[in-house]
Amino acid sequence: MSGIYIHIPFCHQACHYCDFYFSTSLKLKEKIVEHICKELELRKDFFNENSKIESVYFGGGTPSVLNHTELERIVKALDLHFDLGNLKEFTFEINPEDVNDSTIEIWKKNKINRFSLGLQSFEDDLLKYLNRKHTGEDGIVAINKIKQAGFSNISVDLIYGIPGLSMLLWKNQLEKIIDLSIPHISAYCLTIEPNTVFGNQLKKGKIIPVDEVLAQEQYFYLHEFLEKNGFEHYEISNFGKPNFTSKHNTSYWNGKQYLGVGPSAHSFNGEKRMWNVANNFNYIKSIESNSLPLEYETLTKNQQLNEYILTGIRTKWGIDLNKIKLEISKIEFEQFKNKINHYIHSNLLKIENDCAILSIEGFWKADGIAGDLFL
Ligand code: SF4
Repeated sequence: MSGIYIHIPFCHQACHYCDFYFSTSLKLKEKIVEHICKELELRKDFFNENSKIESVYFGGGTPSVLNHTELERIVKALDLHFDLGNLKEFTFEINPEDVNDSTIEIWKKNKINRFSLGLQSFEDDLLKYLNRKHTGEDGIVAINKIKQAGFSNISVDLIYGIPGLSMLLWKNQLEKIIDLSIPHISAYCLTIEPNTVFGNQLKKGKIIPVDEVLAQEQYFYLHEFLEKNGFEHYEISNFGKPNFTSKHNTSYWNGKQYLGVGPSAHSFNGEKRMWNVANNFNYIKSIESNSLPLEYETLTKNQQLNEYILTGIRTKWGIDLNKIKLEISKIEFEQFKNKINHYIHSNLLKIENDCAILSIEGFWKADGIAGDLFL
């Protein structure tokens, strides 16, 4: 299974925590759309003949800033240059303020069958603090509108660990999600990245840092509450009802090939990791001269294994010890097993069907554990 990711690098306004690549000036929007279409043409041979494209994902930035003509143009280019005959999932990231009857109609016409809604919170004070453009009520209205239009495959993004988000407020938000019958949730702990408004404010001592203990409590509660309500916790930050897990993201975590198009988009062809330039102007200039705006690195065998550890450990399937054993020497595997045993004794990890799988406490420390397991 292979997937295509399209990065739309525009947002209505900058959220204070966000370090993705985007511009709040929409001046180059039409030009970027034109050049995304051209990049799709330039990279039409990215996949080998036998790979089936089963998922398309529009992320950003904010894909819902695209108007009818712009969206249709990219979808037509996708259709023209790739075989979408096996497409199962077409996800479109949207923000609540962009959802109305006419945008829904446009999205419907363009074969989108899954929405990822940037909700983040229902609390107006917290939304303001994060510099989101919408209110909590806008989020509820957007969800209901999408559902009324006949879409059921909806994911919402939530953020916990926000200063001011008490345990009680967090519990109330999760109750609301259940009441709204949302089948997929991506929940992220607020992190303060250096090149963001929050990053600058933190440096100047103007904001309170995230309370790690409370954030951890909120994460553990999230896990327990959603599992009790029929969700599967299938990746550190992702929870889905049966048949509603994200096919596109799951293929990333399983090391499948994917093509990323648009400024700052990443691609992986099984051996090489590639990343497009994160600058709209330079992206356009490069595509205009028929040259791909990317840099790449070819992964060594060890880097490929580390990539597998890093992504696999984040999932409920864990990492297959037999796969690792086949690729490294006996001594290296013994050392690797010793580290695994250490985490088993600390109750951070368990072995099931020869796979090393993190516990919920392990999920919370996943990045550190993955780094320690690297070969
Ligand atoms: S969080 Fe989403 S909407 Fe906010 S600035 Fe980042 S990409 Fe844009």
